[in-house]
Amino acid sequence: MLLPPMEAKWYKAEKIIPIEKVRDLKERYVIRNLRILDPAQDRDVAGDLLISDGLIEAIEPGLPQHLDAIEIDGTGKWIFPGLVDMHVHLREPGGEDSETIETGLKAAIAGGITTVGVMPNTSPPMDSPESVLNLIQAAELCGYANVVPVPCVTRGRSGRELVNFDDLHQDGVSAFTDDGDPVHDSGLLLDALNAVYEFDGVIIEHPEVTDLAGGSVNRGTVSRRLGARGIPCAAETADVARCMEIASNSHGHLHLTHLSLPRSVELARAECFHSADVTIDVTPHHIALSEEAVMEHGTMAKMNPPLRSALQRKSLAEMVKSGMVDAIASDHAPHARYKKEGSLGEAAFGIAGLETLLPITLEILSGLQMPVIRILHLLSCGPARILGIPVPVMEPGRKADLVLFDPEAEYRLSQTGSFSKSVNTPFYERKLKGRVEAVWMGRVIYRDGKFAN
Ligand SMILES: [Zn+2]
Repeated sequence: MLLPPMEAKWYKAEKIIPIEKVRDLKERYVIRNLRILDPAQDRDVAGDLLISDGLIEAIEPGLPQHLDAIEIDGTGKWIFPGLVDMHVHLREPGGEDSETIETGLKAAIAGGITTVGVMPNTSPPMDSPESVLNLIQAAELCGYANVVPVPCVTRGRSGRELVNFDDLHQDGVSAFTDDGDPVHDSGLLLDALNAVYEFDGVIIEHPEVTDLAGGSVNRGTVSRRLGARGIPCAAETADVARCMEIASNSHGHLHLTHLSLPRSVELARAECFHSADVTIDVTPHHIALSEEAVMEHGTMAKMNPPLRSALQRKSLAEMVKSGMVDAIASDHAPHARYKKEGSLGEAAFGIAGLETLLPITLEILSGLQMPVIRILHLLSCGPARILGIPVPVMEPGRKADLVLFDPEAEYRLSQTGSFSKSVNTPFYERKLKGRVEAVWMGRVIYRDGKFAN
């Protein structure tokens, strides 16, 4: 799909040319009067940016005019490196009625995410070099966000036998998970941690005692009010404790994902486990919503782990602000409409989250007076380090992997439309603040709600 002619607000009148022509020329852009946010260098400055042939050429205030460059007025806008979302379910193969690689990666770009860690709980599960290669090739064919395949820890996600880590690592894979389920077998989890230590890899663990889970919402006031079966906090915290004990017996890197409880974070950061190499992430929805959201949004607020009490939500957000958490990840879990219909007990767990990751995270953490540069760190450098990929940096000579963002734009996802195939989100009608205006991945691939190809 080709973009329509550029809008005047973007370009000086004499520079209005269609994007296909722009690509024929050597692409050069000068974006002026920006707020430049580079979390890797803890840099938050005002200035101009020159992008030339897909690379950042200069970052400084008052750049001279370049006659062959397209001028963009960035007044009031932010620019920062493309975000890294380390926990995304793309559903393909096997779940294409909910999401495809193409629709998921488009939704990522629209959300300012240029790199996506792809979970392996597809059908069949991603547990072999072939399945990893299939994902990479399919994603390259689409040409949207980059993918970081995160294949299974155990063959077929069966929890019985470890995958061949070395074979997968030879294909560039460093992170593994059985997400959707924990690795129940503690012996296998320990062996897996020791195996990935050999190449500086990571095991991403979904902490859950499934014997205790078996409900649809948090066990508390809302489950009582609805007469629904509740999931107790111990379903998460007991497994976090087990994982921490195991990680303490290995040098391997363990990452605990989508922690929903302050107690889980406390355990992961407890002094007695200081020798363990453990990192953690939380989701935007667990710091934004409490279990009360189930009363308003029904199955759209059903997720695993469930939304917790108002007090726990608040404490979790405060812990993120105080620096106890390494990353924020969407846990993007798209589901076709029919999978979210029916009763709370029957509906699938999980919400779509790529397009709301940034605005919701900013809303909650900026509301706690957390500096924007630190918030962006949790959405780019933190997850990149965990996945073992290069940390995005903004400096001359680097690829222009950049997001132009309007922090004041207000909209609802329901009005702008979603690029994801599924809109199972409690944030669908929420007033969101802050919108991605354009994304460069070398060249401009997204602008004002449209893709360049
Ligand atoms: Zn999970």
